[in-house]
Amino acid sequence: EKESTKENNVAKIKVVVRKRPLNKKENSRKEEDIVSVYDNALTVHEPKLKVDLTAYVEKHEFCFDAVLDEDVSNDEVYRVTVEPIIPTIFERTKATCFAYGQTGSGKTFTMQPLPLRAAEDLARLLHKPLYRNQRFKLWLSYFEIYGGKLFDLLSDRKKLFMREDGKQQVCIVGLQEFEVSDVQIVKEYIERGNAARSTGSTGANEESSRSHAILQLAIKKHNEVKDSRRNNEGNESKPGKVVGKISFIDLAGSERGADTTDNDRQTRIEGAEINKSLLALKECIRALDNDQLHIPFRGSKLTEVLRDSFVGNSRTVMISCISPNAGSCEHTLNTLRYADRVK
Ligand code: ADP
Ligand code: MG
Repeated sequence: EKESTKENNVAKIKVVVRKRPLNKKENSRKEEDIVSVYDNALTVHEPKLKVDLTAYVEKHEFCFDAVLDEDVSNDEVYRVTVEPIIPTIFERTKATCFAYGQTGSGKTFTMQPLPLRAAEDLARLLHKPLYRNQRFKLWLSYFEIYGGKLFDLLSDRKKLFMREDGKQQVCIVGLQEFEVSDVQIVKEYIERGNAARSTGSTGANEESSRSHAILQLAIKKHNEVKDSRRNNEGNESKPGKVVGKISFIDLAGSERGADTTDNDRQTRIEGAEINKSLLALKECIRALDNDQLHIPFRGSKLTEVLRDSFVGNSRTVMISCISPNAGSCEHTLNTLRYADRVK
């Protein structure tokens, strides 16, 4: 029998769907819940209007690695999606966890708690006897891609530039990284970064739905520094190579990719960029899944930035968030078709 390590048992690509409950507004409008979840499958009952005006319903069935119903907690989401990947981060794995879906489907709700839980688990593993003497440390960075440009969410939205070193390594010039020694500090950085996400005159959710937010947790192996070279803080080590990392990506609202006919020119440009990046992402994940040698990461800024997470030892989790109300039917079907294509 083929020898397999613990790491190999973790699926390379996992696609999970999460349904949110009907919200107050939808309930008060007596909107119908058209999504039914069964184990790892779900059905969407698409209401249709026939020419003779009698309504009929078309059933669409989908199957995924996991389908999480509306009563599933964020803790359970973590257990299903990110937790199995955590030990692999110490084995040179670059992991990505995406939240995909239309605005209002629960991407941010789903994504927010995950890095905190991951940091907790990574920090716990760091102190295990197995790694204690390895001088591993946890680092955090948080940035945004908006209109194809990069902004540091932890340093006054400083504009960032990407550089490639020819060895399939991407470097984001000027990106601030912070060593995080306890979970409380992680929480503070996340909150600080969230507050810095794109907010324009049209309101916070409106603008942030046009950007991809990328939070990265990296394990770095620190090199020992000789006594004479200690810096003022008396540090005995300096960060060296990245051992492994995990990126949490709260993607732009999938419906924004269709803004390409909007009256506003800026909105059209942003819509086109979002459309391009979500298509490129799908192509990259498919290429990964097929063990293709050529990963088309050059298709967008998003995939270029994540280039080193699409080569070598990688793990990808796609969490597709869906709204259950009849009014979101078209978007929900689009999201499920996208997730289906990724798999
Ligand atoms: P998105 O980031 O996709 O635009 P949000 O995460 O902001 O969507 O979610 C929209 C609203 O729905 C928020 O008020 C959020 O609290 C709520 N919500 C989303 N998912 C759930 C869920 N699984 N359970 C309860 N409320 C949810
Ligand atoms: Mg959001």
